[in-house]
Amino acid sequence: MSQINLENEDFRNHLYNQAKDGKRLWIYPGRIIGQFYKLRTYFSYVLLTLLFGLPWVEINGQPIFLFNILERKFIFWSVPFFPQDFHLVALGLVSFLIFISLFTVLFGRIWCGWACPQTIFMEMLFRKIEYWIEGDDKAQRRLNEGPWTNEKYIKKGSKHTLFFMLAFAISNTFLMYIIGKADWLKIINENPANHIKGLAAMLIFTGVFYFVFARFRELVCIVVCPYGRLQGVLLDNNSILVQYDHKRGEPRGKVGKTEEKGDCIDCHWCVRVCPTGIDIRNGSNQLECIGCTACIDACDEVMEKVHQPKGLIRYDSLQGVISGTKLKFTKRIAAYTSVLVLIMGILAYMLVTRRDWESTLLRTPGMTYQYDQKTKMVSNLYQLRILNKSMKSQHVQVFVEEPLKISWVGKPIQGISPGQIAKGEFFIRAKAGAWKQGEKIQIKIINNAGKEESLKTSFIQPDE
Ligand code: SF4
Ligand code: SF4
Repeated sequence: MSQINLENEDFRNHLYNQAKDGKRLWIYPGRIIGQFYKLRTYFSYVLLTLLFGLPWVEINGQPIFLFNILERKFIFWSVPFFPQDFHLVALGLVSFLIFISLFTVLFGRIWCGWACPQTIFMEMLFRKIEYWIEGDDKAQRRLNEGPWTNEKYIKKGSKHTLFFMLAFAISNTFLMYIIGKADWLKIINENPANHIKGLAAMLIFTGVFYFVFARFRELVCIVVCPYGRLQGVLLDNNSILVQYDHKRGEPRGKVGKTEEKGDCIDCHWCVRVCPTGIDIRNGSNQLECIGCTACIDACDEVMEKVHQPKGLIRYDSLQGVISGTKLKFTKRIAAYTSVLVLIMGILAYMLVTRRDWESTLLRTPGMTYQYDQKTKMVSNLYQLRILNKSMKSQHVQVFVEEPLKISWVGKPIQGISPGQIAKGEFFIRAKAGAWKQGEKIQIKIINNAGKEESLKTSFIQPDE
């Protein structure tokens, strides 16, 4: 079997963007336009439109997404969540973790290459601006290493101005997801003195985004991102990754050499286009590979030129490369996918069937029962709290089954505004002996949409 050329395993001992003395080596990825890059570009346009557009869209006066940690207000797909929904959030997070793990076992780092905001912003916005102003990788290197001329000042000045503006737009978008459009507009339109904290947050976010995309770049994926670090334990030989077909490619060598050689012509084009600077031919399970597909496009371009079939670098599993079998929908993929669909189905069911309100009923602490000698009536005092978890006002009615009677202390609970908690107290009364001793009573709450909830509680009476 052909083996990957790993005579020099030095790549395992250092990062590709690090010199021997520990200094960072700036990566200049080559510009590539292939079929995967085109697909990723279209896909990123959809994602970017959603990301920048969604904070402006409101349904019934409420945003579609809101993650206001400070005020503990959360809206997800127009469904508001409250601290009382913690069990759903916990379940959602657990499902998300299982989903991510299974998804990664199956499809490797597809998320990183196709949908991660870091990759999308870097490759589809900032990198494109850089290419547009400074030219391709060679031109960028020349410019950086050359003296400070007027041209360099203009190019660097305009690039960083655009970078800063873009970072400002991203920062404001994220701020809108946190505080909502209405509060964000206040910061923009009102007297800055009244919004010092908001403006400070805006500037700090802008600074962070600017730093990340102008300087930090691939280090986010290599050094900071915990998901990247998890790859080593999640991936196996059957995971679908961007793979170099070492069986077909090795032994690599320049075109024209007479000895028997594989299809890799050792042109290094796949290395040059890699945004993290790695050589995919050293194996696909490299922590730095973000699955961006640039090396697939690069190698396909080369294969076309040397009249060899495309796909020397392709999406495949290591097992697929070794056995030479084509990528197919295996039982394992089907089983994992079923689990994924099941998890998402359960979560979706819980979200859809989630009630629009949440109520708690307590017998007033420290009290047992009241007994009226004259009327022979027994009464218990209760406290009811109803949280309206919807975006609309709700009207509720509270019932109790015969022969029990309900009588409110003060105003009964009726209308509840969105997100508000209504509190009320009432007596439940019954003729002594009319209700079986020790049997639970049931209180029914029905809202204006006809949805109902039953609550059970105890009813204390004097011994017969
Ligand atoms: S681009 Fe293809 S042919 Fe060129 S070095 Fe990479 S794998 Fe080999
Ligand atoms: S090795 Fe290929 S897929 Fe991985 S980051 Fe580099 S260019 Fe992208």
